Amino acid sequence: MDMTFYSAELLKQELNDRGYRLTPQRQKILDIFQAQPQGEHLSAEFLHQDLSQEGEHISLSTVYRTLHLMVNMGLLRELELAEGHKHYELNRPLREHHHHLVCVHCNKTLEFSDTQIDQVGEKQANAAGYYVLDCQLTLYGTCPECDR
Ligand SMILES: [Zn+2]
Ligand SMILES: [Zn+2]
Repeated sequence: MDMTFYSAELLKQELNDRGYRLTPQRQKILDIFQAQPQGEHLSAEFLHQDLSQEGEHISLSTVYRTLHLMVNMGLLRELELAEGHKHYELNRPLREHHHHLVCVHCNKTLEFSDTQIDQVGEKQANAAGYYVLDCQLTLYGTCPECDR
């Protein structure tokens, strides 16, 4: 299955087929993510603020719920930063999956790609009969700035 997330029509079709609806609210959130440069990871709080500034008044708990749903839809991926802070980014299935290196002191997050990790994940999932939506490895450590 090949999902092209950059065409709104294809995306809607794909989601409908899977029993999901891309409501205007979800579309709005998706637009914000698509406007971010690669490597940006957004928190629910940031998104909530951004939506308010654009005149979309959605409660923070609705933002949390919508983000969670969009992760389940395969549109977003959830990243567990240090100290339980969840951040979100676009899931880009057409690109290689990328992984994260997180500094536990300053939360600086680097992205890296490694097809070997993806292959190991795919192998495990396929053996269990799963369809893979996402594969991510998060490494926690201390960045060079914090290690001084
Ligand atoms: Zn990332
Ligand atoms: Zn650091």
